[in-house]
Amino acid sequence: MGRAREASAHRLAAILGITRDRITVSADPTRTEGGRAWTRLTVTDHGVYAFIAADNDPARLLCLGPCPQCGNHVPLTALRHLADLGDLLEHRARQRNAVTLPLAQELVADPAHRSRCPFHRD
Ligand SMILES: [Zn+2]
Repeated sequence: MGRAREASAHRLAAILGITRDRITVSADPTRTEGGRAWTRLTVTDHGVYAFIAADNDPARLLCLGPCPQCGNHVPLTALRHLADLGDLLEHRARQRNAVTLPLAQELVADPAHRSRCPFHRD
């Protein structure tokens, strides 16, 4: 699992065009799959940006951001290219407008939604 976490960190660094040492790797406190915590990746650079590797898959990096319904931080959109992060930042800047982001499938039923959120599942 350490290797999967490290691979996720390297992929994130490559996408963002930063060095690996700028990324903090940890176990996600909220999301698990089969008893294993997903990988949380945090970048601090003019603000804090948090990402997770769904099911610890380096090919499935997701941006954490505020849920369009309840506002809690959930996996909002997939990060495949630097442009995906640009879209997320633009989305955040005009929060009140309709959601234009392609939402990640992992957003649905994420454990971080508030209980009254339409995306919440028991
Ligand atoms: Zn929600």
